[in-house]
Amino acid sequence: MNQNLHIHMDHDEIADNMISSNQWGRFFGVSQQILDDVWQRLTAPDGNSVTYVSMEIGADRDVYHPIKKMLQKLKITGSANKTLDHYCNLFLHGPEKIPNYSGGLGILAGDSLKSFADLKIPVVAISLLYRKGYFSQLVDSRIGQIVTVTDWSPERMPSLYLLKNPEHPDIPFEIEVPFFDENDNLIPASAQLWIKMEVSCNLDFFVPEILLDYSIPSSPNFIRAAGQHLYDSSSEKSKILQRRLLGAGILPAMQALGITSKTIHLNEQHGVVVVLQLISKWLWKKLGDTYENKASKEDIIKAAEAISKQIVYTIHTPVKAGHDRFDSQIFGQVGHTFCQKILDVLARDKDHPQTYNFTDLALRVNRTTNSVSRLHKIVTQKQFPQYAKKITAITNGVHHLTWISDAKAEVYDSFPELKNWRQNPGIFANAGLLLKNKKFRAYFKEACRHDAERLTSYINTMLIEHCKQMHETWIDPPNYLSYLNEQKRNLDPNVFTIGFARRFSTYKRADLIFEDLDTLASIIIDNNFPVNFVFSGKAHPSDAPGQSLIKLILDIQEDLYTKTNGLGKVVFIPGYDMSIAKMMVSGVHAWLNNPKRPLEASGTSGMKAAMNGVPNISTMDGWWLEGYHNGKTGWKFGYESAVDQNSFNEESSSLLYAEDSASFYKIFFKILEMFYVDELWSTYLDKCIMNLKLNAPIFNSHRLASEYCKRYGLKLAARETAQIETLQKAYNSDS
Ligand SMILES: *Cc1c(COP(=O)(O)O)cnc(C)c1O
Repeated sequence: MNQNLHIHMDHDEIADNMISSNQWGRFFGVSQQILDDVWQRLTAPDGNSVTYVSMEIGADRDVYHPIKKMLQKLKITGSANKTLDHYCNLFLHGPEKIPNYSGGLGILAGDSLKSFADLKIPVVAISLLYRKGYFSQLVDSRIGQIVTVTDWSPERMPSLYLLKNPEHPDIPFEIEVPFFDENDNLIPASAQLWIKMEVSCNLDFFVPEILLDYSIPSSPNFIRAAGQHLYDSSSEKSKILQRRLLGAGILPAMQALGITSKTIHLNEQHGVVVVLQLISKWLWKKLGDTYENKASKEDIIKAAEAISKQIVYTIHTPVKAGHDRFDSQIFGQVGHTFCQKILDVLARDKDHPQTYNFTDLALRVNRTTNSVSRLHKIVTQKQFPQYAKKITAITNGVHHLTWISDAKAEVYDSFPELKNWRQNPGIFANAGLLLKNKKFRAYFKEACRHDAERLTSYINTMLIEHCKQMHETWIDPPNYLSYLNEQKRNLDPNVFTIGFARRFSTYKRADLIFEDLDTLASIIIDNNFPVNFVFSGKAHPSDAPGQSLIKLILDIQEDLYTKTNGLGKVVFIPGYDMSIAKMMVSGVHAWLNNPKRPLEASGTSGMKAAMNGVPNISTMDGWWLEGYHNGKTGWKFGYESAVDQNSFNEESSSLLYAEDSASFYKIFFKILEMFYVDELWSTYLDKCIMNLKLNAPIFNSHRLASEYCKRYGLKLAARETAQIETLQKAYNSDS
């Protein structure tokens, strides 16, 4: 429905347009007609829809929520309609964060689903609901990262609905998901289902996310425990269980809800257990009830070929930890013997015959596989030569409506050249017309200044807060600046500010630019170029090397400050999440990305910066090969090695710290000079605007969704097809 229509409605009309219900429950944000329409498309016999499976989905309300925005615009307060009143309160003032993501993979899932909703593509997502979320992070200057439990309650979360049992509307609906012990005895387990609604920007479509929640009395304790924390890796068994909670829940959930999708998209291989069930089902149809005894190796291979037509697979990383390999015996403790028989045929690891390789299984059983950037395609082909021919590329993108700051959006709205950028981010290609436009340059500069102020004032407040909290929490403030007086402490928004934030993982080398502190300090102090370095990010609780990187950043703060007479300030913001990410990617003057090539498959935070007109400083890895444009949009540094078997080495000795940091110092002076010397500043601004022209049209999730849409082979109405074709014209990742 058109946003402007609402303005002329009274409360009852608004209620009619935003409250809807069906046998599964009552929902807020879309009209009855839209609810019925979407549900009808997902359950239609033709199966013309997609089920998107992901271990994690990141879509917090505090960075993007079209329903809340609409309510704010309508200014409804105190409606006589009780139900409307309840929802308005909840959506305007309810909790904001669903902590069921850990990093790029989850945010990408959320961004993709939002674009599917905006483009009206019939998609339903399946994931797990983690009652204890991912961990929360505290940071102490002496200890480093401290892991704490995340507190949240799905019951109070706007946009999240527990599905009702259609036959007994006062109790939740449950599905049964079978588990088996070593002797193939059935262990009954159940999950209740939540729906998170990803509503389109105009509230005229939605993508439901079905979140499986095993924390209920009808599931045994060990299964409930395995679904509490995202990426619980306390034991191999709990890891396997968690994969199974997702993968084995897909078909039962689809069947119970009547979802008919002919395509299941695996966002990474975490949910690949669904393949085992599809194969079993196929064999049962072919061979009857005793298929488990009758099926030969050839039958299994034939079944795999047949069901592979239903699977689309996206592989996300060349890094070892991203690929599940499980001990076959431990797998046998929770899966049926027949599943093992299938895995014996399809997923035995070549080098370690005692293990099942889930990446291998996913690569083998699908109708199309894609990597997440052009370079990653080459890397994946080298890494898995037996599948090289089928590996293609669809470069990642981010949801522009989520990641562009309000201040920048206001600027984009003010220029007719960019009209319609919300519907079609391809329009940003017109930003070239604004390169010499004085008014645009002035407005844009002002918006940058506004966003920089937001970030620095957030940090300045945080630095004081940490001191105050110390007395209650016994946590030593993580930042050296917290101990200084106000004048020395405060960050200045006019000072060149570099941002670095992402998961702390060794290959991402968060500490790279501090490799030679004296060289870095001399660049700053010799030229009197002050710099703020702003860091944020979490390390997985069982990743000790990742955690020591955080400690390293804390430890160099005082050193650099002293060596530069206070010109070089390093800040660490604890508790990295989407809202901190948005503040950072829009509020810094350059975004730093320095993974060891070629271990970063894509990277997406730099794309978020690019849409805000913030240039990247990056090694030539992941998406940056496609986004660099010969330096028009930022800077490159570091060793541009050829991709071969040695490239995949993740040991610290082969992470090229000395070479790549030296290469950074070489360009760093020039970057600072461009920012600080008046005659050069306009070339810095040119780079900002060129990001809008060259990168925003490509690295958005609308274009991403359009490329996936082609793979899905969906039949869509003329209008949707036209929109998707327009978006596709902006780019072809696989060429
Ligand atoms: C975008 C984003 C990421 C991914 O960052 P990369 O640079 O791609 O690793 C991780 N975490 C959060 C909260 C994000 O918003």
